[in-house]
Amino acid sequence: MKPFGTEFCDHIAIARYADGAWSAPSIEPLAPLPMHPAAHVFHYASTCFEGFKAYRWSDGKGRIFRLHDHVARMQRSAASLRMPIPDADMLAGMVIDAVHKNLADIPEPPASLYLRPTLIGTAENIGAAAGPSTEATLFVLCSPVGDYFAGGASALKLLVEDQKARTTDQLGSTKTGGNYAAALGPTLDAKEKYGVDQVLFCPDDDVQETGAANFLLISDDEILTKSLDSSFLHGMTRDSVLKLGAELGYKISERPFTVDELLKKVKTYEACLSGTAATLSPVGALVHNGQEILVRDGKPGPNRKKLQTALQNIQYGIEPDSHGWLTEVG
Ligand SMILES: *Cc1c(COP(=O)(O)O)cnc(C)c1O
Repeated sequence: MKPFGTEFCDHIAIARYADGAWSAPSIEPLAPLPMHPAAHVFHYASTCFEGFKAYRWSDGKGRIFRLHDHVARMQRSAASLRMPIPDADMLAGMVIDAVHKNLADIPEPPASLYLRPTLIGTAENIGAAAGPSTEATLFVLCSPVGDYFAGGASALKLLVEDQKARTTDQLGSTKTGGNYAAALGPTLDAKEKYGVDQVLFCPDDDVQETGAANFLLISDDEILTKSLDSSFLHGMTRDSVLKLGAELGYKISERPFTVDELLKKVKTYEACLSGTAATLSPVGALVHNGQEILVRDGKPGPNRKKLQTALQNIQYGIEPDSHGWLTEVG
């Protein structure tokens, strides 16, 4: 299988917004989108997206994980960027239609079909620096993706960044390209300087998240992660793991915590990054003030594996979906 995000299905779902209304969505062959060079997105970054997955079950049908929660999050992202907000039923329908059209391309678990709804501002107006895009295009791109952990889960090394912020408060929980642009420079610098994989942003002594994943500390009986606020992206994987963790008997602690507490806790707690692409990725070491601190013995731990399996068993249809998280397509 090709690297994550480089293979695409033949069809997208697409809808356009102009004159105050959305066009009826349609399924179109995957092709370049002709756009005016003055399109708002190119100049003023009017763009947001979602990322989630559909799985193939042994009955041959697809199952989309937490579709309606992702649709709602995309609506919040669009609202925060003052973009036209896609109607929830319309967007959910576009995702379902795209999955249906590309059903034969969903690989067997642990591979899946990654879904990427994207909203861009297309108004032809470079004078609208301080104005919203009055026109937009919404599309759902589908990408077959392999097992993230093919070859085994290797533990990541993170730089604990206690000066720079990942993004700003007004866009902290918005899934927008601008946030990735802001995190890119510090992340590449940290890779080069410290040989780390990612940066854990902890501005004002507040442990937040990395450029593209939430951060959790897990012991045999507790899951600790930052409580929801406007500074970070409210991950659906985080939310799902907390709900499943509570059912498995873990004490769920959602509260702010400091770098000091983090460095003390990793002597005994496992550390993980959570996100749709990888579910739970183990963290083996932290770099802080130029020093490397191991997370426990530096190896992936059993609690990460246990929680990941609980989540995947629902996604793959091995355990019943008692939360109503899956939408059947087929
Ligand atoms: C998408 C994303 C996540 C993970 O969210 P999931 O819904 O779990 O995939 C975490 N942090 C950032 C900044 C993100 O963009």
